[in-house]
Amino acid sequence: MRSDPLRCPRCDGAKKAQYSLCWRCSNDDRLHSEYQRGYQEGVRAAGPSVPLDGKRLRQLLQLCHPDRHAGSAASTEATRWLLEQRERLAELSA
Ligand SMILES: [Zn+2]
Repeated sequence: MRSDPLRCPRCDGAKKAQYSLCWRCSNDDRLHSEYQRGYQEGVRAAGPSVPLDGKRLRQLLQLCHPDRHAGSAASTEATRWLLEQRERLAELSA
């Protein structure tokens, strides 16, 4: 069966012969790909997400406090990072 060059193969609506889809289906595709691109940009901008809540943060802060690790550089750095995450968490839930 030959397809009608004046009918959209997706919705059977009228289309111009030089286009593969009707205007509405082409526009749907364009909007869908722009939505996907924006969504992916948002995911990349947000960075990786981990299930870190306030309770877990308090626990981790207590466990890696520099006082418990002779003021080691690693515990100081980890504590600083955890405090940043606590701030971000507070901003998100504000
Ligand atoms: Zn169509």
